[in-house]
Amino acid sequence: MPKDIPPPLPGAAVAPGAAAPACGGGNARPAPLSVNDHSRDAAGLHHVYPVLSRRAGGLSIGINLNTNNACNWACSYCQVPGLTRGAAPAIDVGLLARELNGFLAQVVEGDFLATRLPEGMRRVNDIAFSGNGEPTASPAFAAACDVVLAALDLWRGLADARVVVISNGSLLHQAPVQQALARLARRRGELWFKLDRGLEEQRRRVNGVQLPDQLVLERLLAASAHIPTWVQTCLFAEGGAAPEERERLAWLQLIAEARRQGARLAGVLLYTLARPSLQPGAEHLAPLPAAALEAWAQPLRSSGLEVRVSA
Ligand code: SF4
Repeated sequence: MPKDIPPPLPGAAVAPGAAAPACGGGNARPAPLSVNDHSRDAAGLHHVYPVLSRRAGGLSIGINLNTNNACNWACSYCQVPGLTRGAAPAIDVGLLARELNGFLAQVVEGDFLATRLPEGMRRVNDIAFSGNGEPTASPAFAAACDVVLAALDLWRGLADARVVVISNGSLLHQAPVQQALARLARRRGELWFKLDRGLEEQRRRVNGVQLPDQLVLERLLAASAHIPTWVQTCLFAEGGAAPEERERLAWLQLIAEARRQGARLAGVLLYTLARPSLQPGAEHLAPLPAAALEAWAQPLRSSGLEVRVSA
């Protein structure tokens, strides 16, 4: 997680057509992005970082509101370095706006795509709230959503870019969070809602939270009422063993129950560990093969739900 304060960015905002600022400053030509590198300081900024996404086939522009590496959950597979349990910090929304517009100037009018991305992947897929903690826990989450929406209005070249909020869903009951998500939904926004395990005892172990089924259902219903919502599930082996069959059945049952109660799910994203956990005990975790993920995906596909598997 970058701790450096970024170099000053020019002006309060960068208008299309203005000279695009250099991301990260300096004259050295930065290295091309790699699909294996999700470092938050790839552009030398505090809140904005570019990620080359193999799955999306292009650039994902990350927004990190959790610059203190604190989260209200403690997932065993989390890739946040120095993760602590705690609240999100106050942030300077003006700085976020300057960073985002300065970076987008590089992308839309500068040579960022040509110099940092490989051929065939030189497109912006999304702007993603995916920081070093739970983004909706930030006191500036709603204001940050509005910064992104204003930037997308300003930079017309990004008309096809999605806005993604990657969330553990823990604050979906809060009206300001719901209202902000609804505003994103009107501009191709979507929520990725973390549901890693179907059994409560397994969620306690994997996510470090006490999360009864009923609460999961209430949050999924609240989410999907305001924004297209994808369930996202990270599956992995622990101590060489894949999740048990009863866990798979409980997870399928919970999703089925959410749909039965009226959750309008856009689909399910099933993935495994692409990069090592940075938490204690990481050495016991290992990715699962695609075939194992497919066994979880197939019953949902048969029920008409879209499932995307990344292994
Ligand atoms: S919710 Fe996300 S940021 Fe928080 S501990 Fe889990 S994986 Fe890490």
